[in-house]
Amino acid sequence: MIQNKEKWLELASKKIKVPKELIEKAFKDELYGNPSIDAPLEIPDSMDITYKYSYGGISRFFREIRDNKQLLGSKCTHCGKVWLPPRINCNECYAPTEWIRLGDTAEIITYTIVYYGTSVFYDKTPYVCAFVRVDGADTLIMQNVFLKDIRKARIGMKVKIQFRDERNGDMGDFWYVPAEEV
Ligand SMILES: [Zn+2]
Repeated sequence: MIQNKEKWLELASKKIKVPKELIEKAFKDELYGNPSIDAPLEIPDSMDITYKYSYGGISRFFREIRDNKQLLGSKCTHCGKVWLPPRINCNECYAPTEWIRLGDTAEIITYTIVYYGTSVFYDKTPYVCAFVRVDGADTLIMQNVFLKDIRKARIGMKVKIQFRDERNGDMGDFWYVPAEEV
């Protein structure tokens, strides 16, 4: 049995950078139960992983956003469907696609309101997360829409793309705002 529970929680919290209350909840059996001495013993730990991620065939999509603030779609060379997010092959007829420039504007097709965001957009909550159809594309893309007043979000609302000043080449590099607020 863990003798000094408070001290154990304090050290564990410091070690894995998780609030004591959450560790206490996760390890309540070990802390307050009466496990057999042969029962599997679990301990709090953490794992940091760094890695390279490859965008493969859609790399140009992210380079154009990062370097040129340009949104591209991919157009099927057979059926003409324009994909966004882009596909190197058409999802419907499997023919190769070619890059085309898309417009700066889009339309909200459906949306929800985010109150608990990820760290990247934490300071923007609450905000709208929408499926938008970008002008020139046939498919929908999920992106954040930042409105001065989220109560004004509407299906059919026209929105305009905005790019982050310091772009990394990822989906957080751009978002949308109401066209009338630009
Ligand atoms: Zn096609």
